[in-house]
Formats: sequence, C-alpha cells, structure tokens
Amino acid sequence: MSKILIIEDEEAIAEVEKDYLELSGFEVIVKEDGNSGLEAALTEDVDVVVLDVMLPGLDGNEVCKRIRDEKNVPIIMVSAKKEDIDKIRGLGNGADDYMTKPFSPSELVARVKAHLAQFDRLTSSARLENDIIEIRGIKIDRTARRVFVDGEERSFTTKEFDLLAFLAEHPNHVYTKDELFKAIWDMESIGDIATVTVHIKKIREKIENDTSKPQYIETIWGVGYRFKQ
Ligand code: CA
Repeated sequence: MSKILIIEDEEAIAEVEKDYLELSGFEVIVKEDGNSGLEAALTEDVDVVVLDVMLPGLDGNEVCKRIRDEKNVPIIMVSAKKEDIDKIRGLGNGADDYMTKPFSPSELVARVKAHLAQFDRLTSSARLENDIIEIRGIKIDRTARRVFVDGEERSFTTKEFDLLAFLAEHPNHVYTKDELFKAIWDMESIGDIATVTVHIKKIREKIENDTSKPQYIETIWGVGYRFKQ
C-alpha cells in the first residue's frame, strides 16, 4: 500500500485530504508543522508528500528543498495563495506539482495517483537500464548476479559471472586474454592468463548451444575474445 505524507497545519483541510486519500486505499500520515513534517518525510518510507507552503516552524519551501536534498519522492505543494505558488514555482525548489487551495479532494487523489504511476515508471525503467543486460537470448541480472539463457537459469561461479558480465557490458569489443585477466582477476602480473581460457570454456558450456560454434563469446584468433551483439 502506498503511503502519503500530508504536511498541513490547518486541521480541517488535513482531515478532508486524509479521508479522501484513505478512501482511495492509501495509508496517510499527517504532520502539522514543518519540522515534524520534514522528519517524517526523511525517516518514514513515504511515496508522495503533500506539502503546504505556509507552515509553523520551517516553511513549506524550505521543507521541500531539504526533502529534495535527501530523497527522490514526488512532492505536491499546496497553498491558499496563488502568488505563493507562482513565486515558489519560479524558485525551482524541486517540487513536482503545485495546487492552489481550495481544490477538490478528488483532484488531489487524481494527482497523487498520477505522480505514483509516473514515479513507478521512471524508477522501473532506470532499474532495467542499470541492472540487466539482455542480448538476444541471454539475460544477465547484475544486481542479483543471475544469468538466464532462453529464460532458463544457469549457475555461474563468481569469476565466471564477472567475466561474462564484463564481456557483455562491452559487446563487440575485442579483449586480449591479458586485458581480461587484469579486468577480472585484478592482479597485474601475478597468475596465469590461461585461467581466462579455462573460464571462457566453462562459460560457453553454460550459454552456448554448440560450443564448437559459439554464438555469444567469439574467439578472435591471435587476439582474444569478444561478446557478439
Ligand atoms: Ca498553512
């Protein structure tokens, strides 16, 4: 369940906002001043912050900036004064949205839902770009350190995984055994670069249909290896 933090000193307004958001299935926390609101925003696992501008203690603008310094959570700023909203918008304090009071509670609910959906989209696409390499039938999840070939998981030792991920991160780049050895084993001149050949052989047994005709990791004779895109 998504958790919404309302920072609002006018009890009646906070109450209406809370009721509507709860009816829409959200968990709601209300804080009535800037300091306790900021603390809740930073310590609780909240998904959206609805932040009033005029607050006792820290004002909403300051609260917004401090949340933004620490956290990437959607912030909707609200004020009874349109001039305040215009001014704050102009300052670029990092808020994601602005609403002038009075607004209908259902509009607030709609905007909260929109920001949640947008935030999910942004974070899930970032996850894909950062953590998963997919080339043809191979999926390498660098976060979970798991490898799937045509949807089926294969198990890899630490170094086999590192070597495969390194090659796949740089598709079509030809590396010498020496370069691969340094990149993965991280020991300038100690050790034996034949280790690379042994590991490549093991990786191929796990990912290739026919190890005599590798489709993924190619041998470039006299040079080294490359991961074919
Ligand atoms: Ca206020």
